[in-house]
Amino acid sequence: MDQPDPIRSLSVVIPAFNEEASLEELLERADKVCRSLHLDYEIIVVDDGSTDRTAEILDRAAQARGSRIVALLLNRNYGQHAAVMAGFSRAAGDLIITLDADLQNPPEEIPRLVEAAGQGYDVVGSVRVQRQDTWFRKGASRLINAMIKRSTGKQMSDYGCMLRAYRRHIVAAMLRCREHSTFIPILANSFAGRTIEIDVRHDERKFGDSKYSLLKLINLMFDLVTCLTTTPLRLLSILGLGLACSGFGLAFVLVLLRLLLGPEWAAEGVFMLFAILFIFLGAQFIGLGLLGEYTGRIYTDVRARPRWLIRKMSGSPLGKKFPV
Ligand code: UDP
Ligand code: MG
Repeated sequence: MDQPDPIRSLSVVIPAFNEEASLEELLERADKVCRSLHLDYEIIVVDDGSTDRTAEILDRAAQARGSRIVALLLNRNYGQHAAVMAGFSRAAGDLIITLDADLQNPPEEIPRLVEAAGQGYDVVGSVRVQRQDTWFRKGASRLINAMIKRSTGKQMSDYGCMLRAYRRHIVAAMLRCREHSTFIPILANSFAGRTIEIDVRHDERKFGDSKYSLLKLINLMFDLVTCLTTTPLRLLSILGLGLACSGFGLAFVLVLLRLLLGPEWAAEGVFMLFAILFIFLGAQFIGLGLLGEYTGRIYTDVRARPRWLIRKMSGSPLGKKFPV
């Protein structure tokens, strides 16, 4: 293998939605860790339309003397992955690291990610050891991970953990994607050549509750599936074919029994038929729902609306100028 590109600068991208309680500790710890790396660095915190003091705290921190913090304030809540993408669009480092603002991902793990990336990996994933989440969330993750593994062929066991490092060119490729609903770890892996996974600590959420309601979680599931594959559409036709065949088979059996056993028997089968009909109807509706999900996404992408609007950006420690 040829010599990996050196990492001279680092951008840390953190999405924050109503995280006022953890912000100051987060910024302090992240800054301390980054400083110890002796790299040029910036910490971009994206305020995802918070309604608490998050934006205010960030703005102040970014404007402080000698600050390495960039405050990127979005004008409303766009969701975690859109917020991270907004952060990517303003990241200037050779290596870009994402983490959550709630301190569940300890910033102290950053140097290990940098070290792993330095060995020439495009994407460094992380596995949460002793994950501090409910059994329901853990079970759901396990199922999803198995699905992704089948489809991308990349051996990673924990896609839910956002403490990850991406090389500059991977982020650039992700930014060129015009789709609206993205699931960043999967998207990154679809461009990555060499990937590695390391174990990281995972802490309990110190302040407040998870910012994912059940509805948002379901939405994320759909983002994930449609970001990943269009296989459900193919499955739909296979399912349809299976259903039609069994329908024909059933009709054949019914006619046969009617001929053998006489009309009384057939009348008693009416309710059975109703039951079968409802099963078929149910299957059709599931199919329609899935189709609708894809069509809906095609619709939003075709409209090609901007994915975010940045309200304000303050601070730029790496001094990079961006085209407006
Ligand atoms: N987040 C965000 N926008 C949202 C929801 C979440 O920017 O609409 C951020 C949140 O502030 C946190 C990260 O995404 O930094 C992960 O969210 P959370 O910790 O609530 O998710 P969980 O750990 O429960 O999966
Ligand atoms: Mg969390």
